[in-house]
Amino acid sequence: MTQTAAMDLSQHTPMMQQYLRIKADYPDILLFYRMGDFYELFFEDARRASELLDITLTARGQSAGEPIPMAGVPYHSAEQYLARLVRLGESVAICEQVGDPATAKGPVERQVARIVTPGTLTEEALLDERRENLLVSVCGREGRFGLASLELSSGRFVVQELTGDEALTAEIERLRPAELLYPEDSRPPLGDRPGLTRRPPWHFEADTATEQLTRQFGTHDLAGFGCEDAPLAVAAAGALLQYVKDTQRAALPHINSLRRERQGHSVVLDAASRRNLELEQNLQGGQDHTLAAVLDQTATAMGSRCLRRWINRPLRDSEVLRGRHQAVATLIESGTFEALREQLRGIGDVERILSRVALKSARPRDLATLRDSLARLPELQGRLADLDALTLAGLAADIGTHPEVEALLSAAIIDHPPMLIRDGGVIAPGFDAELDELRALSENADQFLVDLETRERERTGISTLKVAYNRVHGYYIEISRGQADRAPEDYTRRQTLKGAERFITPELKRFEDQVLSARERALAREKGLYDELLDRLIVHLRPLQRAADGLASLDALTNLAERAATLDYVCPELTAAPGIHIEGGRHPVVEQVLDEPFVPNDTQLDDERRMLMITGPNMGGKSTYMRQVALIVLMAHIGSYVPATAARIGPVDRIFTRIGASDDLASGRSTFMVEMTEAANILNNATAHSLVLMDEIGRGTSTFDGLSLAWACAEHLAVHNRAFTLFATHYFELTTLPEQVAGIRNVHIDAVEHGDSIVFLHSVKEGPANQSYGLQVAQLAGVPRGVIQRARERLRQLEEQSARGADATPQLGLPLDAAPGPHPVIEALADVNPDDLSPRQALDVLYSLKDRLEPQ
Ligand code: ADP
Repeated sequence: MTQTAAMDLSQHTPMMQQYLRIKADYPDILLFYRMGDFYELFFEDARRASELLDITLTARGQSAGEPIPMAGVPYHSAEQYLARLVRLGESVAICEQVGDPATAKGPVERQVARIVTPGTLTEEALLDERRENLLVSVCGREGRFGLASLELSSGRFVVQELTGDEALTAEIERLRPAELLYPEDSRPPLGDRPGLTRRPPWHFEADTATEQLTRQFGTHDLAGFGCEDAPLAVAAAGALLQYVKDTQRAALPHINSLRRERQGHSVVLDAASRRNLELEQNLQGGQDHTLAAVLDQTATAMGSRCLRRWINRPLRDSEVLRGRHQAVATLIESGTFEALREQLRGIGDVERILSRVALKSARPRDLATLRDSLARLPELQGRLADLDALTLAGLAADIGTHPEVEALLSAAIIDHPPMLIRDGGVIAPGFDAELDELRALSENADQFLVDLETRERERTGISTLKVAYNRVHGYYIEISRGQADRAPEDYTRRQTLKGAERFITPELKRFEDQVLSARERALAREKGLYDELLDRLIVHLRPLQRAADGLASLDALTNLAERAATLDYVCPELTAAPGIHIEGGRHPVVEQVLDEPFVPNDTQLDDERRMLMITGPNMGGKSTYMRQVALIVLMAHIGSYVPATAARIGPVDRIFTRIGASDDLASGRSTFMVEMTEAANILNNATAHSLVLMDEIGRGTSTFDGLSLAWACAEHLAVHNRAFTLFATHYFELTTLPEQVAGIRNVHIDAVEHGDSIVFLHSVKEGPANQSYGLQVAQLAGVPRGVIQRARERLRQLEEQSARGADATPQLGLPLDAAPGPHPVIEALADVNPDDLSPRQALDVLYSLKDRLEPQ
């Protein structure tokens, strides 16, 4: 829409003037403008919608002398179009007719009833039932950030404060918001992406935000939520709440508290590590072969979302974790998990239903599901009462039984209500005397019609005379064409068909008015009762929300018990002493997809063995081994059992991974840059309590640089970070590090040569690998025989040189002909005080190393 078109309204038709006035309030989002049975879009909106939804672009009349581009979607299927738009990150203002078209002078009155945005969905049809749909708000000042997230469909509202871009990126990756709010006077937090929404900066001001939140929660201040010292978190939360109010235009009684999360309470994973470990998404972007895919067999959608929340935010609080482990143990030992799961399967998505109750958008079937779910609780409680675990007892108390609500719903709603309240037939008979009376009036009508038909047949002597009803013409008496002239005088013609005539009589007309008004009144009464019912449910919202939360956790725990029993997992022991001890560890995902048996491996990391330098042939299992350790540690920290025969795990603050040489093509960074940025992040942030996986660092550059970088990183991690590190490398030189630096040990993945070929044993052994096996693997991979032959000769030459004492290594083509003396990398690092290194500086050091080591 052009500026002039918007301003000079007088040239437009009255309806277009109304449209343009409303549209002016929503310049950035699509406006669905209700016209009869359609939502129409005009001007630029029409063009965009026709592209995004692949619907026809037409024109409507003329306005201001030009045809108006128009596109529309039918009212009845609007939801599916909305679903597509929000998935594309678009928001839509829904403008409804609020006046009565019959009495309106000029265009019927219209108003925006609600705004559908990607982050504020609550409709069942628009949501993925197993994924949270989060609205996130970010506000920053001087490198510190406040971050608030809300799942409107459950009311879960969480805030935190963070320092640094890297931490912010990691959190946003973790939450994967459907929509991200930020103040319009700053830059979008992660650059351009779908689902960004700019908000007025003053919404993020401390006073406005605090006022907004305290009003919502009915509290004096925010101290009760632990937010008194978190002004940025409060700012983000306040702005978020304002946005939800603006878009929903409804009370939000289910948002009744705020939880503050702190980084120190969870095992932190940065964005790259989260991707590398394939927690919820595999490296190809799919959902198969991920930790969540293996672990999630939950019985309910709320349980699934709860488990995924746990997977996404492993905890450090060993009390909570031990509680979960004990609950899982009890569920397995008592053999009750199957029966419990069976009962949970009959429970609907109470969490989301309650949010729709709160927003007064719950549909009849939501209430029926809520009723049926509540009806199952007494039996569920019976089972839980026999189980002796503190965590389970706590959940049982949260869940409760809610007989009052259940009785109300049973009395109010018929067994199988229709989809919508619109056509009535939802409220059960006996619930409301007035409704019953009105219904009786319209139902007795049937008998009246039968009687009338008999009477009229007798009176006219026409045996085929029929009394019937249709929507357009109402009640009528139908007589076939041939006998129509026998119609009595008091019959008035209503409609002529090909083979029949339809009539009305004064008696039938009187009856019609009565019945129709009874129907209308019954319907209005029913809608009123339904609204009242929602209000009565809202009174019980808090305990019901607590019950939903309890059910979700119970489902997650019962699911973990089932998984542990089925997949042969063991309870990990969480110790106060640092270290990671795993016996017979397995990779939870790889073991599921392998055809042959998975070879279990041990892991010992403690003060003496802080770093394992892992060598062995490509395809031997190095990556699998490293990831399995990280996944076992992570699983222990969500409360799950782990794929091993025994596991003892000390405190872990973060898990870092630097795996693979995946080009970050989207951001245009080279493999080398990505590798170095990730490495710099690890070197700068890993502590003695961190678990670090480094896979083939240095691969993204030439051999010599690569080796130098790998060496420098390994040494820095072992000496300065002192992190528990698994370091896989194909640079054989690194196997000499244990001789020079305390706390490093060599291990290798076993393989045996078999003629020209190689057999992978996948078992981890102490000591360095004795061969690189590169040639055999190349052959397996289909490199032409001649090339392999040539390489073999070259290898032999190098080995001979090395035997004669020349300064070359028995490795493939490594030109390690730098001057003898201390290793150049070590020498270079001597100038650096690693304690003062920022990620930027670490990068610089690595680059300067690269320059100094480049052969002149
Ligand atoms: P590398 O990192 O050494 O190149 P990978 O970890 O990618 O090797 O493993 C290569 C393949 O070997 C895996 O895809 C898997 O099929 C198999 N593998 C790895 N570890 C094991 C194991 N412990 N038991 C059985 N098969 C394994």
